Amino acid sequence: MGTRFEIVFLGTGSPLPSMDRCGAGNVIVAGDTHVMVDCGWGAARRLRPSGVIPSSIDVALFTHMHTDHMTDFPDFLFQRWTAGSQVPLRVYGPDGTKEMVDGFMMALRRDIGFRLAHHGDKLHPDGIKVEVTELPTTTSATGFLKLGGLEFESFEVDHFPVVPAFGYRVRYDGLSAVLSGDTSFCESLVAASQGADMLVCEAMNVSMLEQVQTLLRGTGRTREAGLLGDVPSYHIGTTEIAGLARKAGVGEVVLSHIIPPIPNDTEQETAFMAGMAGIYGGPIRVARDMQRIPVTKRGS
Ligand SMILES: [Zn+2]
Ligand SMILES: [Zn+2]
Repeated sequence: MGTRFEIVFLGTGSPLPSMDRCGAGNVIVAGDTHVMVDCGWGAARRLRPSGVIPSSIDVALFTHMHTDHMTDFPDFLFQRWTAGSQVPLRVYGPDGTKEMVDGFMMALRRDIGFRLAHHGDKLHPDGIKVEVTELPTTTSATGFLKLGGLEFESFEVDHFPVVPAFGYRVRYDGLSAVLSGDTSFCESLVAASQGADMLVCEAMNVSMLEQVQTLLRGTGRTREAGLLGDVPSYHIGTTEIAGLARKAGVGEVVLSHIIPPIPNDTEQETAFMAGMAGIYGGPIRVARDMQRIPVTKRGS
């Protein structure tokens, strides 16, 4: 095939507010096929500046039911509809996805009626519909979708008490990329990442997070500091990612879902990755919102 295979980063943040980093969202691009993975706060507004026409997306995947991965879904649906979609969006995700989509559709019900009454046949009634498929929970990567040469597999990760939570592996033209979803270190992610050309991994820098907690305590925001204290139990630290990447022999690591959310600043990105290069010898980078990163064979 030889056409482009790349990952668009709509949002590289977490629930923690940030000027530079929206909530989690990616678009997988292979040739003319576009598949969204998660749609957290602000992700929909990143679509067009990232060069993605919303109506080019007919499939969306969700990793888990945390707000920072789904609250821009209604805005995405409307952007997709008004850009000209004429077919329902197909959505795949873990148990809970249907409930989430049904809830959003109920919230939008009146507005959909208003838009149709106002714009008439300029909007196709099927373009705002959603068809949901909830995937079985399996720790080993299991195929569920083939689309435009892309092959998708899901696997369960460990984001307890968020159960189930998924990562995804996608193959195209002899290349493979793994999107970790939100997870702590877990063997299913190691197994799914074996030999992947790119691992897009959520990432937490523990010492930077502790600095944020100290700052919050110093200004009397003890509740927020305490909540941040719960974060490490279900996320993966940067040096753990490096160990995982080495063990799995991945070609390249791209960090996303950055905790705490550092600004777009090369020095801070370097500090965020401190200690990783001594463990994992391949390329590592911190993704920024609206970046497009091609999946390639290492060294090519
Ligand atoms: Zn998250
Ligand atoms: Zn989460």
